[in-house]
Amino acid sequence: MRKRVLVIVLFLACCRFPAFGLLRIESRSGAAVTITARSLQPGEVLLAVFHPSGETGEARLVILNKEHGFLPGGPSGQRFALVGVDFLTAPGSYRVEALFFNEAGQKEIVQKYLRLHERSFTRRNIRIDERLVTAPPEVEERVARERKILTEVYRSVLPSWLGSGDFMAPLPDKPTLNFGEHRLYNSVPRSRHTGIDISAADGAPIRASNSGKVALAMDLYYSGLTVILDHGLGVFSVYCHCSRLDVRPGQSVRRGEVVAAVGSTGRSTGPHLHWSVRLGGARVDPLSLLGLGLE
Ligand SMILES: [Zn+2]
Repeated sequence: MRKRVLVIVLFLACCRFPAFGLLRIESRSGAAVTITARSLQPGEVLLAVFHPSGETGEARLVILNKEHGFLPGGPSGQRFALVGVDFLTAPGSYRVEALFFNEAGQKEIVQKYLRLHERSFTRRNIRIDERLVTAPPEVEERVARERKILTEVYRSVLPSWLGSGDFMAPLPDKPTLNFGEHRLYNSVPRSRHTGIDISAADGAPIRASNSGKVALAMDLYYSGLTVILDHGLGVFSVYCHCSRLDVRPGQSVRRGEVVAAVGSTGRSTGPHLHWSVRLGGARVDPLSLLGLGLE
């Protein structure tokens, strides 16, 4: 029995990062684009790395209808791109194209297919003040204004990478694995939970999961005191329900720097951090960003 537990533990340890190589697309000259991820499922972050060869010095990647370039900062100093698979993406087979360019600017296109597997999501009913389920008429205008502000924040994409190394968890506490959860409020199905929750003591320091720029630091009706960090290239990390904000919009923050404190502001039933990540508009599980091996 003990041996079996040990085998399972070892198996799970191996399943953690570093991620498996999931796909390797090679050019005739030996250059390659590799794609790795924690798992190939909706709501995951994929890491694409470019491995140049002598004559093939540039590449681009087309995946899920988006084109990506490669920038320095990947594992072992290689050029990389992060691809977000929105949690509502249908499982199935998707075409991936690598575009390789040689010094003369000639292009070679290599196609492969990537299989996105089914993912099951949890379901939870939450008892909460009805005013926080449907905004009362007097705050409708506020909610609409805040929605517009958020759309603007996510629309602006910095063309450079501001992150420094791997992403880290903003709190040392154990997260609840409730990304993508079907949410019922007072028994009525309402929304999907597009982040994860980390329960922690009221006032515990929340750390920036990577370096970046503060895109938003304000009180929002549903998510309470909120910080959004812009890491560049369309990658945003979001910290909600805080009791205190320690940063201002426009400010640069370093990975690990304290940006806020844990609280229970907005639509919350107790002190915790709601942590979410947007990547190129895709809503992804923040835990799938950890341990990618970025430098
Ligand atoms: Zn949450």
